[in-house]
Amino acid sequence: MRERHERLWDGGYPAASWPRRTDKRSGGSVETVRAYHGPAVGARDQRVRLAAFDFLDRQRQVHGDTLRRDVLAAGFDFEGTRVPLLGPQGIFKPAICELPLSITTVPPIEGRPRPYEDEVDPATGLLRYRYRGSDQDHRDNTGLRDAMRQQVPLVYFHGIVPGRYMASWPVFIVGDDPTTLTFTVAVDDRQLAMSPATHEPEPEPETDIRRRYITRQVRQRLHQQAFRERVLDAYRQHCAICRLRHQELLEAAHIVADSDPEGEPKVTNGLALCKLHHAAFDCHILGVRPDYVVEVRGDVLEEIDGPMLKHGLQGFHGQPMLLPTREVLQPDRRCLEQRYELFRRASSNA
Ligand SMILES: [Zn+2]
Repeated sequence: MRERHERLWDGGYPAASWPRRTDKRSGGSVETVRAYHGPAVGARDQRVRLAAFDFLDRQRQVHGDTLRRDVLAAGFDFEGTRVPLLGPQGIFKPAICELPLSITTVPPIEGRPRPYEDEVDPATGLLRYRYRGSDQDHRDNTGLRDAMRQQVPLVYFHGIVPGRYMASWPVFIVGDDPTTLTFTVAVDDRQLAMSPATHEPEPEPETDIRRRYITRQVRQRLHQQAFRERVLDAYRQHCAICRLRHQELLEAAHIVADSDPEGEPKVTNGLALCKLHHAAFDCHILGVRPDYVVEVRGDVLEEIDGPMLKHGLQGFHGQPMLLPTREVLQPDRRCLEQRYELFRRASSNA
């Protein structure tokens, strides 16, 4: 039997009814959202949350998908009170709010596992978020648990590179597993999640399907963005072939096809290339040997044309490519070998 959605998010804000999960699949030690009988968060907390979403909407319009930590830590002004969006810990509750407002994952350090690894729940594709420490009753953890029971929307900040984050909102805590010390997090659509209270609440499975779908899209976007930012960072914003430094003209190229387009991106399977050299690399006009030397396809080397061909392509034949200073970020030689083999075949057919 399906419970009707209760109005838990209606204090003082127009037409806001947040669908909540009344999951009946709970088994084992995993707690999913159950009916909530305590007081819901107050009107001010709700308004702060919505103001935070508006602030993030504006930031995204100005700065794009990746936001700087100092901007997020400075936050915004709410009726004379400054509201930061994140703090030193992963689970963050600004003083003005009753429950946590955001959860943050730290950027990975290449070659080391994340301290708070954000994983994916293989069964649902939803995100998993580690407890703070191992005490399930730590106030940060109980805060998130309350946010789950009340289905209060939060912001999820995903660390891309040190100091830069990708934000997703609204997200909901939809599961809690004390045995693995993790919460399950679903991303939702702002308009749909906050549909008018006068509408017939949508059936529970629809919310579930929609959240899984949106969470999956968000994971793919996170992956692409993280790959680009980390690869460009590794090459200190230079093209690996020509050293060009114009960020607007730089791209992150995959050496071999991405085996896990939603997982943790691998910098060692990437090259920072300008648009010309990315295109030339993709159509095998240009190849990189496993010993990091650039080669230009034979027929292109023999062509005679203007300065662009001469200096932009032919001139790099036999030159070493630019490498990231840190060895753990340098291209994987096995990936380069695989890719060079394709270039070699293309060369012999040209
Ligand atoms: Zn270039």
